[in-house]
Amino acid sequence: MSRIKANRMDLTYERYRDEFEARALSVLRSGWYILGHEVEAFEKEWASYTGSKYCVGLASGLDALWISFRILNIGQGDEVIVCSNAYIACVMGITINGATPVFVEPDIYDNIDAEKIEEKITGRTKAILAVHLYGQCCDMDRIMSIAAKHKLKVVEDCAQSHGNHWKDKKAGTFGDIGCFSFYPSKGCGAFGDGGAIVTDDSSLAEKFRIFRNYGSEKRYYNMVVGANSRLDEIQAGLLRVKLSHLDELNAERVRIADRYSAEIDNPAVTLPKVRPGADSSWHQYVIHCERRDELKEYLSEHDIDSIIHYPIPPHLQEAYRYLGYKKGDLPVAEKYADEVLSLPMYNGMTVEDQQRVIEAINRF
Ligand SMILES: *Cc1c(COP(=O)(O)O)cnc(C)c1O
Repeated sequence: MSRIKANRMDLTYERYRDEFEARALSVLRSGWYILGHEVEAFEKEWASYTGSKYCVGLASGLDALWISFRILNIGQGDEVIVCSNAYIACVMGITINGATPVFVEPDIYDNIDAEKIEEKITGRTKAILAVHLYGQCCDMDRIMSIAAKHKLKVVEDCAQSHGNHWKDKKAGTFGDIGCFSFYPSKGCGAFGDGGAIVTDDSSLAEKFRIFRNYGSEKRYYNMVVGANSRLDEIQAGLLRVKLSHLDELNAERVRIADRYSAEIDNPAVTLPKVRPGADSSWHQYVIHCERRDELKEYLSEHDIDSIIHYPIPPHLQEAYRYLGYKKGDLPVAEKYADEVLSLPMYNGMTVEDQQRVIEAINRF
């Protein structure tokens, strides 16, 4: 029996191999590699898929985040609310511009506990970064009403939630800006780095278009100090192929998650919950287990890989020592870091392999 990996990206490539290869070849043969037809077409298709007016392709998800806060003028002296169990890139997106992250603990859905946001708002709070972790939206009704009441901007980090919903709208369409990463392991993953923002605000979209290309709208005329953060033609072309299959890929992940949820039965393990009003694209299938390290080791001995998303919460990372936090300051995030475990979850996972994972967990 071969080892079960936590993730497999080669299987999706194999499934649509002819389409991916034809598209890559057509870009290579076109002689046009940056900001051309494929990027423009992908931006239109991604805007339409998410239900947004505009999409601007960028070089990564982290770029989408930090350029958002730069364009919203949120930096030195400003505070941004974010969940304490966020991925490190979420926090870097805030701090690259000099703003301070203010952490709010997660609830039982592993996303920000919206009921605890208001107590963290100060005169310096400028925005809420809503991170839709593991493929599931935050409570966007509550977050948008708090933001309206306190006149805060809302940026959504949808890196892990491609195509899933809060009620009848897709992730990325609630706040001022929705940020996406197309890192290979994400739902609509590229074959390299990529990112994008979506927005309904034409002037914001225009600012991203200018910023990503050295701050220039017209070649060699530079209006602002920008960045080089362009999605390239090959990735955009490959993303168009992936997007054309994204709904079926997400549906397959739902079937895999449903099987885990129906068949894992061990009192030591808490299964993931989906908030009423949300659905999940199951970017990760994350269980909680107080004996997590033992369980991970047990699975490994049975030829099953698993991953911890994430072992150290941002406030305890060396990079953020300057924020002055110590162990015990954010107990929920710290507890989650000690008990979360992402089970193998990928498109193309066989029922037999899933059965092995389920049986191993139930025997643990
Ligand atoms: C992957 C990820 C990012 C960063 O995206 P990159 O494209 O790797 O820069 C940001 N936020 C979340 C929640 C992510 O999962």
